This record gives sequence, C-alpha cells and structure tokens, in this order.
Amino acid sequence: MNFDMSVVEKTMENLAQRQFKPYFVTTKEEVLPLIETMVADGAAVANGGSVTLTQTGVSDWLKSGRFNYLAPASDATAEEKKEMMRKRFYADVFFSSANAIITDGRIVNEDGASTRVAPMIYGPDRVIIVAGVNKIVETMGQATARVKMVAPINCKKIGFDTPCVADGKCHDCRHFQRSCCTTAVLNYSRIPDRITVILVGEELGV
Ligand code: SF4
Repeated sequence: MNFDMSVVEKTMENLAQRQFKPYFVTTKEEVLPLIETMVADGAAVANGGSVTLTQTGVSDWLKSGRFNYLAPASDATAEEKKEMMRKRFYADVFFSSANAIITDGRIVNEDGASTRVAPMIYGPDRVIIVAGVNKIVETMGQATARVKMVAPINCKKIGFDTPCVADGKCHDCRHFQRSCCTTAVLNYSRIPDRITVILVGEELGV
C-alpha cells in the first residue's frame, strides 16, 4: 500500500517520547526475524487475538513449542479457561496488534472481554505490538471511527448477533455479545520500553 514515510517517522518519534519502543520494517516477512532477537527460547508468552499476528507468522511461531505458550486448551472448562487467562498476566512477553495508533503516539484498543487489553496495560514484563501502517490515524476521532468500522466485521466473523452485523453501523448496543466494551488508550509507559511497537509498511489486519 502507498503510505507517507514522514507520517510513520512522526508517529515513531511520538511513540518514543511516550516511552514506547518503536521499530519500522518494510514487509511482513521482516517481522518475525526482528521479534526472534527479542524473545528467549522457553519464555512464557501469550497473545491477544489478532489477524496481524497470524499474517506475520507470529501466532504459529508462539505455538511452535519453543516457548511456554499460555493459552487455554480447546477443550478447557470455563474454570480452566479463567485460570489460564489470569496466568497470562505473568507472561514474560504478551503479543497483540492495535486497533489504531495515533500519530501523536497514543495507542488505541477496543475489547470485549478485555483479555487482550488488560495484559497490555499491566502484568507481562514486555508487550510487543505489531501493526500495519494502515492502523496509523491522525486523531482520536479517526481512531474511534476505525474501531467502529472494524467491530462489525469482527462480530460477523465470530458469528455474533450484534446489531452492527446486519447493517455495518454501530448502535452503541446493550447486546450480550458486544465486542466494544472497553476502550483502552495507552498514553505513556512509566516503564521505559516495556511496550514495543513494530510498524510494518503494509496493510495488515482488519
Ligand atoms: S457497540 Fe455493539 S453495535 Fe456498536 S460496533 Fe460494538 S458490538 Fe457493534
């Protein structure tokens, strides 16, 4: 995709000023080699659901057996799943994408059960966010619009029955399957470089 490198550079400067650790790679194939320099074999790792992590090969790599991959088994009971979701706060590294990254350096995420945004905010020693440059926006309003553009697509993909699935528009619903329950804005990291942001010069994710 076409993008303005000066916008990426401005975003990286502002991410760094907020004590996030930014990187830029041109292609999705460069993501995994970079991440491999950051995570030791045997580390406890976990991830939030992310199309971007799948597209970049990160999801499969986390499940490769090299790491202590913290995720509930497919046949886990509700109690076992809850226990595992809590264990993920002790991960050495937590992986995710972002719904939007504002050029001023703020990182915006929306979540349903909050099992993705909660470990980004607190718990794991490190967080690695991978995001295509299509996630970069100029304003918080554009970030919110992006979230509301993505939510109906994700709800439909999962098979939810929220009102946005029918018409692609947000109804600020009170539906039990609502996917937009919590908006988390990462404004600054008190721990320098706890949160790495790898921007990729391609369109990735939803
Ligand atoms: S609040 Fe409800 S209707 Fe709006 S996008 Fe989220 S899930 Fe869809």
